[in-house]
Amino acid sequence: MENLLEVRNLRKDFQTKKGLLQAVNDISFNVRKGETLGIVGESGCGKSTTGRAVLRLVEPTGGEVRFEGQNILGYSSRKMREARKDMQIIFQDPFASLNPRMSISQIIAEPFDVYRMYNPSERAQRVQELMRTVGLSNKLVNSFPHELDGGRRQRVGVARALALSPKFIVCDEPVSALDVSIQAQILNLIQDLQQKLDLTYVFISHDLSVVKHISNRVAVMYLGKFVELTTSRQIFANPLHPYTQALLSAIPIPKVNVEKRQRVILEGDVPSPVNPPAGCIFSGRCPYVMPRCREAPPPVVEAEPDHFVSCYLVSDKMPPHVPATAHSAGDSSPT
Ligand code: SF4
Repeated sequence: MENLLEVRNLRKDFQTKKGLLQAVNDISFNVRKGETLGIVGESGCGKSTTGRAVLRLVEPTGGEVRFEGQNILGYSSRKMREARKDMQIIFQDPFASLNPRMSISQIIAEPFDVYRMYNPSERAQRVQELMRTVGLSNKLVNSFPHELDGGRRQRVGVARALALSPKFIVCDEPVSALDVSIQAQILNLIQDLQQKLDLTYVFISHDLSVVKHISNRVAVMYLGKFVELTTSRQIFANPLHPYTQALLSAIPIPKVNVEKRQRVILEGDVPSPVNPPAGCIFSGRCPYVMPRCREAPPPVVEAEPDHFVSCYLVSDKMPPHVPATAHSAGDSSPT
């Protein structure tokens, strides 16, 4: 499948009082046309910053972001403004991301004002069309965000993201602020729209079960880096990185299966990205840590087709001819 997005050696640093915070630390990956790439990890691991850096909502410190083959990091602000029509975002908290003083129609039509699109009657028609697309009744057109429940508010956020007919959307924890009963409805909506409108997604979540539901492939992120990247099926059937195994073991499962899975309890907290550990970034919490894990970062290897992982436990078992990094595989790399 053709790549829509190619990210190479992406970095985003923030200068803080304590030093340089490496929120996104040299990651490379591709997003194929029409797929959903899930990015999962604990709060503060850099997944939202990755999504925003890819859209240049925060300016990357380094690397390349190629959208349809063009490195958008070299774009002028005018050119980037045009490119943004194709690259949109759905935010986590619909209440915080919608202007409380604007009506639903004004919120959905705001991008038309920014890009000076449509006359008033075309604009009203397009708003109605978008509301229908996301399952909102046209009766709500003059309502305000506080008059809607969380699910409907998020539908407004989705309609706004669709307004300019994008090709690519970063879904940044789009259901984590919603009641569990509403989450499935919004996930189904996001999936249906992908089919209908030929969309490509990066779907960010701290919840591996949500990511599994929606993603074709999943990247597991820890302390600014991808530690494992593979298909959604393989991440559950054959997780190879100890951090992925720990995340999976924390997912509630039906009682009948409890004896088949052991809970992996991680010791300690996520270390500060200001002073990441030398060697493997997971060495401070890994139950299998070895002395050399603290000395040099493990290489990224393609353990099986389309399954990239960065851990000595895996790379040690690989035959010597296997490349030390996954770049030669030509596709996604969790580096
Ligand atoms: Fe654990 Fe070592 Fe693998 Fe890192 S390289 S995940 S510390 S075993």
